[in-house]
Amino acid sequence: MHLFKLKNNNKDKKDKKDAGKPAGIPEGLWVKCPGCSEIIYKKELERNLEVCPKCNYHFRINFESRIKIIFDEGSFIRLFDDLKPTDILDFKDTKKYKDRLKEDYEKTGLSDAAVAGYGLIEKIEAASVIFDFNFMGGSMGRVVGEKITKTFEYAIEKKLPVIIFTSSGGARMQEGIFSLMQMARTIAVISEYEKTRLPYISVLTDPTTGGVSASFASIGDIMIAEPKALIGFAGPRVIEKTIHQNLPEGFQRAEYLLEHGMIDMIVERKDIKNTIKNLLNLLINY
Ligand SMILES: [Zn+2]
Repeated sequence: MHLFKLKNNNKDKKDKKDAGKPAGIPEGLWVKCPGCSEIIYKKELERNLEVCPKCNYHFRINFESRIKIIFDEGSFIRLFDDLKPTDILDFKDTKKYKDRLKEDYEKTGLSDAAVAGYGLIEKIEAASVIFDFNFMGGSMGRVVGEKITKTFEYAIEKKLPVIIFTSSGGARMQEGIFSLMQMARTIAVISEYEKTRLPYISVLTDPTTGGVSASFASIGDIMIAEPKALIGFAGPRVIEKTIHQNLPEGFQRAEYLLEHGMIDMIVERKDIKNTIKNLLNLLINY
């Protein structure tokens, strides 16, 4: 038995390839925890939802692990997988954008940085978008923006709550202004969605930054974060250089944001499914 096997009606040929891939943690039998520097047996880490059993450090996880943790077994159906990125600007930095896309497709089995779909959370149906940081740092280009937009449209039509799990460095520079436009676009569709009075839950995981933190991710009806997740717009070094001041300790971490009223709660990975279920029960019947 392996942890991330998924039943999925919508998988394309390529995606079948990643059914047996490991989670977003390094290869090998042992993993060093970035939180406490302990060496952890990888299987133990997987059993513990990729959270350090010694210090509670939450490792970044890939989309398959997230689906496995949140949705009832085999219930998640992927949508809009036919959307594929194109290199509209013929962009090149140290590498060609086309080559980066190809490499990350080979690495993750994904054609872009987010997976959309719907499934059951303790028998409650919900639409969802799940970011995967392994694909170009979870960056948002046209495909990711389109998936979010279409997911909210789908939720409006089917009268479903929406839950988005972000893990993203922000807008994708290789798509220039087209990626920045996704910020306005996702906000616009959420304004439409609000009319349904159904809940949108935004779950911020490490890291949620840049144009993603500055758009749809920050306007959830309920804002949840994973412990110690980095959440902010610009990085601390950029801010310090701009304002010529040192930043307080823990700045831009989930705990700091909670203390300053930017999010509603911090939820550990082991509790997230149950928390979302309880919230949906409360909010859907409101
Ligand atoms: Zn640790």
